[in-house]
Amino acid sequence: MTGTSVELFEYSLGWLKQEGWAIVSLEECLERLASNDQSRRYAVLTFDDGYWDNISVALPILERNNAPFTMYVPTAALTRTMQCWWLGLRELFRSRDDVTIDAMGMRFHCHDLESKRLALTKVDQWVHQDYRRAEMLAQTFSDAGISLSRLNSQYFLDRGALQELSRHPLASIGGHTTSHAALATIDTTSARAELADNRNYLENLLQLPVRHHAYPYGACGVREEHLAKEAGFATAVTTRHGQLGTDRLNQFALPRIGVGSAFDSEISFAARMNGVQLAAQTLLAGRSHRQPAARDVSGRGRATVS
Ligand SMILES: [Zn+2]
Repeated sequence: MTGTSVELFEYSLGWLKQEGWAIVSLEECLERLASNDQSRRYAVLTFDDGYWDNISVALPILERNNAPFTMYVPTAALTRTMQCWWLGLRELFRSRDDVTIDAMGMRFHCHDLESKRLALTKVDQWVHQDYRRAEMLAQTFSDAGISLSRLNSQYFLDRGALQELSRHPLASIGGHTTSHAALATIDTTSARAELADNRNYLENLLQLPVRHHAYPYGACGVREEHLAKEAGFATAVTTRHGQLGTDRLNQFALPRIGVGSAFDSEISFAARMNGVQLAAQTLLAGRSHRQPAARDVSGRGRATVS
């Protein structure tokens, strides 16, 4: 599956190039927007969470394409405390055929990959309906001998690797909250702290300005946009599907286009794919003069991986 995923990612970049899109950094995107430069279509590449695969798999491809990118990193991934329930569930279904989710009152018997995927999607959706449910999975993970802390180390870049990556000429590091919280579901004081503490943490670690933010799970509304601005970010991206229009641009609610993934579902995404797809999560498309690539890219993606 990694091969397929790499194929999809390379296909997406190749497609952009072929269609005459420039891949630009978020900073350059802002400059172009400010100067109303519409000379060429452009896209911004973004990755969420800071997976090792971003470096081991995606980076060589990005380098070959000379493609700048922004990676959004939650503090908890670096401190190995992220409640990465989507990875825990993936591990759970991968490691056994019979899975009982007590908190959900469900029992799954999954004898093949397809039934595992379906079950995983079901549990995933259940959590996405109410993120507080993520904590209710702790006992299930612990009973199954699954350590989220170990999964943190296995899947997410460590501090040293992120420091190194931040010096890469193509890379820019952005914020993604302290704990990967669904900001819209928590109180204002906590949401404010999630944004500001994460930004401070990254700036201290990297000794670089951290100007961009991605809302975990895309959970944001007007309040979160205000808070992101107040925390000192220059932009914030959502998981809302779309492109930058010419009017009413809201820098704190920028749309994105997922590559080969059901965007609102990090878990079914993780379940379907590994490798670069976990990494190459998103493609933020710049303004376009005609109908976008989005459908082509993601359509092809789904066809390729399913
Ligand atoms: Zn995320």
